[in-house]
Amino acid sequence: MARSGESRVPVAVLGATGTVGQRFVRLLQDHPWFHLAVVAASERSAGQRYGDAVDWQQGVPLPESVAEMRIQRCEPMTGIPLALSALDASAAGPIETAFARAGILVVSNARSHRMDRDVPLLVPEVNPGHLRLLEEQEVPDGAGIITNPNCSTIGVAMVLGPLHRAFGVERVHVVTLQALSGAGMPGVPAMAIQDNVLPFIEGEEEKLESEPRKILGRLGRAGGGIEEAELAISAQCTRVPVSDGHMAMVSIQLGERVGVEEVRAVLSDFRGLPQELGLPTAPRRPIHLFDEPTAPQPRLHRDREQGMAVTVGRIRPCPLTDVRMAILSHNTVRGAAGGALLCAELAIAEERIPGITPPVPTDDR
Ligand code: NAP
Repeated sequence: MARSGESRVPVAVLGATGTVGQRFVRLLQDHPWFHLAVVAASERSAGQRYGDAVDWQQGVPLPESVAEMRIQRCEPMTGIPLALSALDASAAGPIETAFARAGILVVSNARSHRMDRDVPLLVPEVNPGHLRLLEEQEVPDGAGIITNPNCSTIGVAMVLGPLHRAFGVERVHVVTLQALSGAGMPGVPAMAIQDNVLPFIEGEEEKLESEPRKILGRLGRAGGGIEEAELAISAQCTRVPVSDGHMAMVSIQLGERVGVEEVRAVLSDFRGLPQELGLPTAPRRPIHLFDEPTAPQPRLHRDREQGMAVTVGRIRPCPLTDVRMAILSHNTVRGAAGGALLCAELAIAEERIPGITPPVPTDDR
């Protein structure tokens, strides 16, 4: 990949001190297309050394070169074509809009713009064509906002996508068991979650009930946004004492009466555009299936393909709908920073930023 004199694209991470921001920092080390050029966070952190401001929670050492970086304010900067946002939703909306208007392509994990008519809500394997919505945003060429769905939605959408394409999906009932890292920093107090399950996560059920309809929807006529898929979703979300990895127990009613084996075959064969293009962060197989009834489990299976694969087990008939199963996805990797990186890679591969040439397809990971 070439960008006039630079070998890798300089990237800013917004909200770099938080749970997802730290994941971005970690995933950007040794990334073949991008290099971490700017770390930005709130006024509380701006001006400090990253190593002093961050409460580093990753299981690998913080690189000295990153620890030495000065944290910037979340204000558009020059020379940065791409920003990865891990901002708290209370601040993300206007900041991301300002970056896009200043000519920067923003890929965001925050909910603020997800349901905007002209903003793609992207799972690159499932709805890559929705990137075309960027053309409807009133921003300079090459800029705009792309959003990554909610961390629970991503795993569920990865399964619903191929099933919807093959058979149609009519109704979904889902119960989630969500990890602690999904609550960000400092998160849920230990006294509240130890030896416990919390039956309420604010705003989560609404996202899980609405976002898949947009993701599985169709691009309408130019300027018309997305025609949402007509499926009904009932979601119940819980917080459990697991560090990383969101589980979703799902029952699905399909548009066609098909057997469990046909469902298994569709999920097992599923590949998307990221796999076809050989994008650096793409898992070779987006969905890993298990036969044994004890899988998937967060501690054992969340890191499949560096946390980018969704694992699925217990596929069996459902007496209320057609089929039921357990879906597991790594919430801060596939469900946040890794998923957003994949969105950014797809945007680059589709030449959405003028002057940045697409990568040569690679399959050498
Ligand atoms: P977090 O740990 O609370 O981190 C929030 C980040 O936003 C910090 O870097 C913080 O900087 C910064 N920030 C807060 N207020 C700000 C302001 N007014 N101006 C500029 N920066 C500000 O949250 P998180 O869990 O990483 O989540 C980040 C975003 O991703 C959220 O929108 C969340 O909903 C979404 N998300 C999270 C997950 C997950 O699994 N955790 C998954 C998917 C999506 P300071 O350190 O300086 O305060």
